[in-house]
Amino acid sequence: MNVLVINAGSSSLKYQLMDPQTGAVAAKGLCERIGIDGRLTHKVRGNKVVKDIPMPTHSEAITAVLDILVDPEHGVIHSTDEIDAVGHRVLHGGMKFSASCIIDDACIQAIEDCIPLGPLHNPANLMGIRACQAVMPTKPQVAVFDTAFHMTMPPKAYRYAIPKSYYENDDIRRYGFHGTSHKYITRRAIELMGRSDIKIINCHLGNGSSLSAVKDGKCQDTSMGLSPLAGVCMGTRSGDIDPTVCQFIMNKYGISVDEMLNILNKKSGVLALSGVSSDFRDIEDAAAQGNEDAILALDKFAYEVRKYVGAYAAALGGCDCLVFTAGVGENGPDTRAKICEGLEYMGVKLDPEKNKVRGEEVRISADDSKVQVWVIPTNEELMIAQDTMELVNAAK
Ligand code: ADP
Repeated sequence: MNVLVINAGSSSLKYQLMDPQTGAVAAKGLCERIGIDGRLTHKVRGNKVVKDIPMPTHSEAITAVLDILVDPEHGVIHSTDEIDAVGHRVLHGGMKFSASCIIDDACIQAIEDCIPLGPLHNPANLMGIRACQAVMPTKPQVAVFDTAFHMTMPPKAYRYAIPKSYYENDDIRRYGFHGTSHKYITRRAIELMGRSDIKIINCHLGNGSSLSAVKDGKCQDTSMGLSPLAGVCMGTRSGDIDPTVCQFIMNKYGISVDEMLNILNKKSGVLALSGVSSDFRDIEDAAAQGNEDAILALDKFAYEVRKYVGAYAAALGGCDCLVFTAGVGENGPDTRAKICEGLEYMGVKLDPEKNKVRGEEVRISADDSKVQVWVIPTNEELMIAQDTMELVNAAK
């Protein structure tokens, strides 16, 4: 089976054509500058092809993707008939979606209804869906939500301690994100541990970072909230912060709510702490040269992640497996070591040699560690493709 996985942003669109059974990726790429001019970067058989193609809307971007997929020189299929289904990443499923769903009018309406909860991403995701419907009207399409995996959280984890009417009337609650990644690494951890009745703490540490507490394969809590701004500090996001800080800054400097949120989303996190970069590699380089702000940024990031690990061990009543994934989680041995420092009391003991791993699926805990610690490279596209395959096959 060939599934085209689409992740549409407001001016960009990532794609992968993959086989959900084997995980083999036939080709992948990125459309950028949609609505401005348009550029396609296509990766196939180890080669990279870059083409400037006018993309006034997402429809032209999808058309460009389909054209290159069937191109005699750079393509991987003879005809678009060989694409069996399309799987779309959708950011916010609100309370309406606790699983992926086949896209029909009702599903589109529900994604639209979630726009107030995901105002930056859901409209762009819908543009990708509508463009595919326009260009490939007969192909089955599936929406896979970043929030869905977390919908098993109990009310004590997802409710905010604010007046109930905001929950009842406006759906204000914790949702959590990176759900497709958390679901993928949970499945892998269960396979690797050989049993599902385990307590897992997942650390998805990338540009955006989130943790989840999982019991018996079901999410019990997660660090992001109504939006991806909550939880640990991230590349450019502040993470959890006392709201009074915002009131103080906004009043003193005459800043609007939107400007304040822009500061918290784009100008904060380890970028703000280090004053160097949002990229951990740059911060690690600066720290190695003695930059104290960079050292603080790395210390604080590890400290915040460690605090969440401790909190989730308490929430779950223990931990059998600690998983690291995403850019920093997969490639940052120093950050992983720093996070695990001081977690010996709960049975976490790293093997320093194994912890040198980058980007591979490896158990990095010592043989006598009570908690198994794993690096599991995430694969959100594969998860989207598999969900798409399952739903499309079930609907046949
Ligand atoms: P996104 O949230 O955008 O998907 P990623 O999961 O790709 O982000 O993570 C990106 C971050 O991962 C980069 O900003 C960088 O700090 C970090 N990273 C990637 N590779 C390495 C590496 N080899 N060593 C340390 N950090 C890395």
